[in-house]
Amino acid sequence: MTAIETAIGEPDWRRAADLIHGAGTLALACHVSPDGDALGSMLGLGLALARSGKKVVASFGDRVLEVPRLLRFLPGQELLVEAPAYPAEPDLMITFDASTMERLGLLAPHAGKAGELLVIDHHVSNTRFGTVHLVDPSAASTTMVVEELIHRLGLRVDRSVATCLYAGLVTDTGSFRHSVTTPAAHAMAGRLLETGLRPEELARELWDRSPYAYLRVLGAALGRATLEPDAAGGHGLVWTFVSRADRAAEGLPYDEVEGVIDVVRRVDEAEVAVVLKEDDDGGWNVSTRSKGVVDVARACAALGGGGHARAAGFSSALPVADTMAALRPLLTSSPPHLPSPRTEP
Ligand code: 5GP
Ligand code: MN
Repeated sequence: MTAIETAIGEPDWRRAADLIHGAGTLALACHVSPDGDALGSMLGLGLALARSGKKVVASFGDRVLEVPRLLRFLPGQELLVEAPAYPAEPDLMITFDASTMERLGLLAPHAGKAGELLVIDHHVSNTRFGTVHLVDPSAASTTMVVEELIHRLGLRVDRSVATCLYAGLVTDTGSFRHSVTTPAAHAMAGRLLETGLRPEELARELWDRSPYAYLRVLGAALGRATLEPDAAGGHGLVWTFVSRADRAAEGLPYDEVEGVIDVVRRVDEAEVAVVLKEDDDGGWNVSTRSKGVVDVARACAALGGGGHARAAGFSSALPVADTMAALRPLLTSSPPHLPSPRTEP
């Protein structure tokens, strides 16, 4: 492959490569409730390193280490270890797709005690919480940064590694639909397809299957979707929620409802779409999307979350109505001096 144009300086690339080459065991971690980019970037680099003879452990800091069903096709899951088996004070820890230390959940203390902390990410809001940073806000996905790193380490992208990297690329670009879909993103897809991976097989796993229970829960959520034309600075808001009672009634696990926002966000009359999802412990995770006028990352950051200008989220312990009451006034148009908003996870 050819080197992609990045916002990351040569000294950072070199320092990252030196750290990896010099490390014994590499401790990898991605953000909690991992999505395709988080797991894809972590397992992609993990596999490439493991194949080269490195000792690698990987994990994420959720209370229960369970890969979402949609992502169970990803290669490299044999690298995953539960928190007790994860080094308490890693010599070198590498984080993926996490914009803040808190996004590491139960593994945040491990990151705090790591000798060196290499942060690999593409969120513009990244707080640079490590000792070395490969953070490129112009990258469509964290897997784009990882592909470049693999290349610079002299490692091979075989079909398994490519599958992981492609999963992050297609999920974060929304199948090459979002505004982050650059020529570099397509060029990377081309390189990955050269390994023989089957895009239609990934697409089916990621988007085109679900248990019947999902239809029932989706139906309930869509049935109570509310359109507020005057909200979001008069640009319109559409929102709904999925409670744990909804899911329990159909026996649907939490990780199956991630795609609800992709249906709700299509509403023409709304600039902003919001889906509140209750997890099994009664906490709410709020997904927000905008079409470019409202900076949802700013709104979510004000409520303790974060993300991208057009795709962001936060957690809430409040009842649905109270969470919406807190969020609504924050959904205002971006001042014109802000850089044009980017898209997606
Ligand atoms: P999703 O709605 O798909 O879960 O998340 C959309 C984007 O917002 C992703 O980039 C995700 O990492 C980010 N995000 C979601 N929830 C949170 C949160 O609680 N805190 C932060 N910092 N980012 C979040
Ligand atoms: Mn990402």
